[in-house]
Amino acid sequence: MSNKIVGIDLGTTFSAIAVLDSIGNPEILPDLKNNRITASAVYFSSSNETKVGSEALSAIKAEPNRVVTEIKRHMRDEVVYSLGKGEWIDKKFSEKLEDEFTPAQLSSIILKKLKDFGEKIDKAVITVPAMFANDARQATIDAAKMAELSGYESDTIELINEPTAAIFHYANLPGVSISGKVMVVDLGGGTFDVTIAEVNGKKVDVIHSEGNPNLGGKDFDRLILKFMSEEYKNQLGAELSIDDVEYLLQAEELKKILSTRESHAIVIDGPNGPSKKIEITRNQFDDLSSSLIEAMKLKMDSCVKKAKLQKNDISQILLVGGSTRMPCVISAIKEVMDKEPTKGVNVDEAVASGAALYAGTIADKSDLNEAQKDAMSKIDLSDVANHYFGTIAQTFDQERQTYFQYNSIIIEKGSKLPVAKTNQYSLIGDQDGFPATVTQSDGPTENKEFVHIIAQEQVEIKNGKKDDEVQITFSYDKSQIMHCTFEHIASGKKHEIQIKSKTSEEVDAAQKEMKNFTID
Ligand code: AMP
Repeated sequence: MSNKIVGIDLGTTFSAIAVLDSIGNPEILPDLKNNRITASAVYFSSSNETKVGSEALSAIKAEPNRVVTEIKRHMRDEVVYSLGKGEWIDKKFSEKLEDEFTPAQLSSIILKKLKDFGEKIDKAVITVPAMFANDARQATIDAAKMAELSGYESDTIELINEPTAAIFHYANLPGVSISGKVMVVDLGGGTFDVTIAEVNGKKVDVIHSEGNPNLGGKDFDRLILKFMSEEYKNQLGAELSIDDVEYLLQAEELKKILSTRESHAIVIDGPNGPSKKIEITRNQFDDLSSSLIEAMKLKMDSCVKKAKLQKNDISQILLVGGSTRMPCVISAIKEVMDKEPTKGVNVDEAVASGAALYAGTIADKSDLNEAQKDAMSKIDLSDVANHYFGTIAQTFDQERQTYFQYNSIIIEKGSKLPVAKTNQYSLIGDQDGFPATVTQSDGPTENKEFVHIIAQEQVEIKNGKKDDEVQITFSYDKSQIMHCTFEHIASGKKHEIQIKSKTSEEVDAAQKEMKNFTID
């Protein structure tokens, strides 16, 4: 079988790759050891060899500085990971050393590893959180190009929002019928997302999505470790280090067992002293987790409100992410939504599978056989913008008799993709140029202090006169990447800002920096 059309879940803690089989069903590609999910961790040996997955994690104890985890949390940051320092540092302070890597370079190593599970790839779709900003999306595409997933010159890599991919997966499961307004609750290792979408047959429209990028399974692990440390201290006087990888792994194991048992005990080796058996019950764990659970409940509540719905409008609740196996999460969902969530799928694999299906729908028809074409023809998908996008404009304040700058929103959060919007503005005086600014914000604010400026360039014009019209068009594609045009109508001068990924030369340069490393 040729593995041509794939979906990749590039997760904070785990990643997975699925391929479309000969009849158009997604299948997870396991690694050589038959693992279906791969830890999103990269290890660099001193002899320039890299390892990805559990092998990378097992090097943490001996060489913590040389193992990089939770790379996805940094995708939008201007940072590099320094192997020498063993931490993320601001790009401004980078010494451009050979042992410094950008989040995109590190992600490309994970993608390359996943790519090797299959054969040649013709079409790849990578999933990103619905909340991911433009720069994080671009960094993900850069990573895919560096990994040469399917040749970076071609238009073969696309992104899809994780909840959309998951809905896709559920909606296509045999014997599962999903319709109406559904909620996707995604609790993985490092992030929490809630999404409400409308599913009509095979058509999926995301209505609203929000989340917390810093709430995930790892936070529950830390709570258990804190409990273990207190118990150990009470009886033997010493504390357990809260960052110790082995203790954290033991805490995670305990947490997973509590998903199916009412209580469990483990033996802890003290930092420099005796071993101790520590027991924790599910009730104790639920008490420890109450503030995390409360934060999740608030998000679910807010998602329903922001979608302008009532709870009983939601027909189904779909679970995604390994941490939704925890009984306290299921109870919280039932409590807030007054409904049982749909169970029975492999929550760790839903996102990659859905992405493979989406890849099939957008693949070149010549890459599909008849059965795949038939399966794909039954699927339709749309998605929404997850931020507000605008520009900095000026207007005259009559009261104060002065001009002031404000954020003028052009694309509303929640607009269905792809979307293109044009707004008219005018020059405030005779001028030879104007700044072209693109802003992004989570709320519909006019206050320019509360927005993130994602691009700013100067547009030179000839003989611009007061009140001349300037037309600004923003178009937002299906991968949620923005294209902006600023046009001075009188002179016909058009200025384009493509908030785009690196050029192939830049990708080549970034790749070359890593040429000394072999990937195992
Ligand atoms: P994901 O990123 O979706 O693969 O989710 C990974 C997270 O799910 C990690 O924090 C795991 O500890 C957690 N997880 C996996 N299985 C279980 C389980 N049975 N009970 C509780 N948490 C789990």
